[in-house]
Amino acid sequence: QFPLGRRLPCDIYWHGVSFHDNNIFSGQVNKFPGMMETVRKITLSRAMRTMQDLFPLEYNFYPRSWILPEELSLFVDEFRTMKDSNPSWKPTFIVKPDGGCQGDGIYLIKDPGDIRLTGSIQSRPAVVQEYICKPLLMDKLKFDIRLYVLLKSLEPLEIYIAKDGLSRFCTEPYQEPSLKNLHQVFMHLTNYSLNIHSGNFIHSDSVNTGSKRTFSSILCRLSSRGVDVKKLWSDIISLVIKTIIALTPELKVYYQSDIPAGKPGPTCFQILGFDILLMKSLKPMLLEVNANPSMRIEHEQELSPGVFENVPSPVDEEVKVAVIRDTLRLVDPQKKKRKDTHLSFHTYLLIFPTQLQSLHAGVAGMKDKQHKHHSLKLSLKLKFYLKLGSCQSLKQVPEASEELPDAAKSLEAALPSLCLKQVFPKYSKQFGHLRLVDRVAALFIRFLGVKGTTKLGPTGFRTFIRNCKLSNSNFSMAAVDILYIDITRRWNSMGIDKESGMCLQAFVEAFFCLARKKYKLLPLHEQVSSLVELCENRLAALHGKRLAWGCG
Ligand code: ADP
Repeated sequence: QFPLGRRLPCDIYWHGVSFHDNNIFSGQVNKFPGMMETVRKITLSRAMRTMQDLFPLEYNFYPRSWILPEELSLFVDEFRTMKDSNPSWKPTFIVKPDGGCQGDGIYLIKDPGDIRLTGSIQSRPAVVQEYICKPLLMDKLKFDIRLYVLLKSLEPLEIYIAKDGLSRFCTEPYQEPSLKNLHQVFMHLTNYSLNIHSGNFIHSDSVNTGSKRTFSSILCRLSSRGVDVKKLWSDIISLVIKTIIALTPELKVYYQSDIPAGKPGPTCFQILGFDILLMKSLKPMLLEVNANPSMRIEHEQELSPGVFENVPSPVDEEVKVAVIRDTLRLVDPQKKKRKDTHLSFHTYLLIFPTQLQSLHAGVAGMKDKQHKHHSLKLSLKLKFYLKLGSCQSLKQVPEASEELPDAAKSLEAALPSLCLKQVFPKYSKQFGHLRLVDRVAALFIRFLGVKGTTKLGPTGFRTFIRNCKLSNSNFSMAAVDILYIDITRRWNSMGIDKESGMCLQAFVEAFFCLARKKYKLLPLHEQVSSLVELCENRLAALHGKRLAWGCG
């Protein structure tokens, strides 16, 4: 912590809430600019809708959602149409305030007329979503899964998933929603922060019982019931990769605005919390993505009225310590420099003082004489460094640095294997075709012009149309301006953002509109990919020409 400000640049910056410090010019920051905004309920629902429009079958893991208040009439119309075509359809919906967390302000409804419009909906926008009525139950209770995902890099895209997560249980036996039980939060909402207040909440010392358990303990139970857990994991991995692919276009716009290309700046990584619900059919459904998942490894216990004590929580500790430890192992800057697999000694000293001590203790028990001799020497040195107690003093011991690779090697061996599993680029072949909006975003960013902005002005939009040669006798530049004004005005009237101009989602809408116009008969994703390709080719040709003129 630097309560009085920093003097020296750091390798890793660990921010509590968001990327907010524009005075960082190197190193790695544990937050991406704009992540909090990108995963808010409304923005996430919009991004998922775009992907559902393009790839409906691939993105059927996110419940159908409508944004309130702007899509209230659309929601009502779609509800009526569905009801008319199937009168026995008795759905339930869940209303969730945008930017809310911990179940705050959430309620269930059976009919669009039950949405509480009393003034607040205008000031507090929300998402209304199809409620998953048949979740998988365990011990008759509904539960959800919190999985930790490391977005290690945006460009190139690198995603890791933690092999274990948390399962959070409701505290009242589940019943399918009916008018009688709609308001029973302990039955329908799995939030820890709510259920902890139920008299039935069980804090457990073990990782496979109680109201919060490890996900691996659930998998064990499912496996013993004959469930194909490998297939379940592969479905979860696919859900995570697809969700991140839906988020990257927006993230890239924020990134270039805060850390413009060509300027010195840090790189970013971020631990995300994915909330997933398993349906009775075992299909995983995405509920939401948290930019700041709680990393607490203890909980509060009320000893006597008003007197609280922090008590360790073995389940949280088991899962979360490994996630943070391995995130640091993966982003370790010394490791990058040496291009080998060992964690830098400095990083060890920072995060694993206890491991160092136990390594020292373990050396005495070694059988191989030569190894023991070397390790003993090393371990004595480690003890000495530990006494020094800080990286600053370590740097002042010149001979220490020569021993670092060896020290790191032995320490790496003393650590458990990585709990974070790389899934992207590992599975990039399977999912690469879904990165279409990323390419649309690349076009958008190219024409943004002024650095530091996230919105495209009318001139930028015109230049895009002109350089990609998209206007013709059927689509005049006047029509281009009208398209820009129409779409931009609508998006700006919905947003809270005061910056004027065309945001990425508005550009995507305009782009889809142009694609539909140009390639009438194709399915939407083919229309869009054809137009993207055309634009990329025309821009490449233009660039080639400009280079040739420059040389000439
Ligand atoms: P919050 O950020 O306030 O926790 P969530 O979207 O995570 O909001 O929803 C809170 C809880 O409500 C979830 O943990 C889950 O138990 C339940 N829930 C949310 N959406 C659905 C849904 N579509 N179907 C069934 N249950 C849901």
